[in-house]
Amino acid sequence: MTDPTLTDEQIQFRDAVRTFVEKEITPNATRWDTEERYPQELFQKLGALGWLGAAFPEDVGGSGGGSILYAILCAELARGSAAIALGLYVHTALASAAILHLGNDEQKMRFLPEALAGKKIGCWGYAEAGAGADISCIATRADKDGDVYVLNGAKLYITNSPFADFMVIVAATAPEKGLKGMSLFIVEREMAGVNVSAPFKKLGMGASEMAEIVFDNCRVPECNLLGPENFGFLLALKVLTLGRIASAAFGVGLGWAALEESIGYTSTRLQAGKPVSSHQFVRFTLADMATKLEAAWQLTLHGARIADANQPHDKEASMAKLFATETATWVCERTLHLCGAQGYMRESKAQRFYRDCKVLELGEGTSEIQRETIARILGV
Ligand SMILES: Cc1cc2nc3c(=O)[nH]c(=O)nc-3n(C[C@H](O)[C@H](O)[C@H](O)COP(=O)(O)OP(=O)(O)OC[C@H]3O[C@@H](n4cnc5c(N)ncnc54)[C@H](O)[C@@H]3O)c2cc1C
Repeated sequence: MTDPTLTDEQIQFRDAVRTFVEKEITPNATRWDTEERYPQELFQKLGALGWLGAAFPEDVGGSGGGSILYAILCAELARGSAAIALGLYVHTALASAAILHLGNDEQKMRFLPEALAGKKIGCWGYAEAGAGADISCIATRADKDGDVYVLNGAKLYITNSPFADFMVIVAATAPEKGLKGMSLFIVEREMAGVNVSAPFKKLGMGASEMAEIVFDNCRVPECNLLGPENFGFLLALKVLTLGRIASAAFGVGLGWAALEESIGYTSTRLQAGKPVSSHQFVRFTLADMATKLEAAWQLTLHGARIADANQPHDKEASMAKLFATETATWVCERTLHLCGAQGYMRESKAQRFYRDCKVLELGEGTSEIQRETIARILGV
């Protein structure tokens, strides 16, 4: 968890986030998980600290820090609560980043300063009942009618949607053209025809809130089209690499929290008069956890550094996301194993980590989709 490759500024930032998380998030994480409620006030606190804008330029209200600082933020937040990191990442790395990369100046200034201050919260919706890994099946339509687009369809499993003020939505503008006929829209919550369901019950990430959004003849003005008509989503797939780096980072952060729990429990749990951590099997498991997490963190930082150097990093972002999230699942499963029956109890951290980790392999492109991306870049 020490990293000589980080600069003094990055270490100071990490320490500040860690202090905040230990005071404001870690002590409340189990309660928020049980209550299945996202503490929305956190957005404004993180916005006031300038951290929501860690990866955004100053001219739109960001703090100009870049991908490395953003990865540090996600990892440290996830150490306290992966569900809190999930809500923040959807708001910043997906909804707000889409506006940053694809929006015109008017759209950026209309949405980003308030978003990065935590005053307006965003969600990102592409998934549907029939479109998950295969995004070409998106059935939500946006039909042009004068100077508005009329949206009809439904987006499923949308994080932050129960309280989001703006929604970046993928819809087909030329359905016959498949992926080359999909556009992005900024839908504002108060627009007529936007209906959000009650929050869903989930296995993990209890404190994050997700629901279904149904669009029923929702008339979105032309000025809310994000990026070029028909190509907005294709462009978004190319430029939204920050999401994969963020997913990797919060896999690492969740893994760190699980490792700490494993070390704490096995060092104090006595069986036959000695700590269970004195057994070689346990010691080797802890060593393997630390080694894999270190590799995952360095892969994440590597992707972030290439991103900050404005070099192509599609492959590195996918490698980091794939390795870090699968590592997190392995580490969290082993943690539950090492913590035995105590870890299986509902008040334990181990069971929360075990329930939280799996979705990291599913969202932001499943592990299979990351492997497909890497293989494609390898030329096979
Ligand atoms: C907690 C949570 C939060 C979410 N938040 C959001 C959100 O904010 N916005 C949003 O748009 N979506 C969100 N989602 C949905 C998420 O994007 C989808 O779950 C994801 O895209 C996978 O789609 P699917 O679940 O329909 O799985 P499917 O596409 O049905 O896939 C099922 C399985 O088949 C595998 N598979 C599918 N195609 C292939 C292939 N070609 N090759 C090999 N294997 C394949 C998949 O890897 C997976 O293991 C969220 C989901 C969860 C659980």
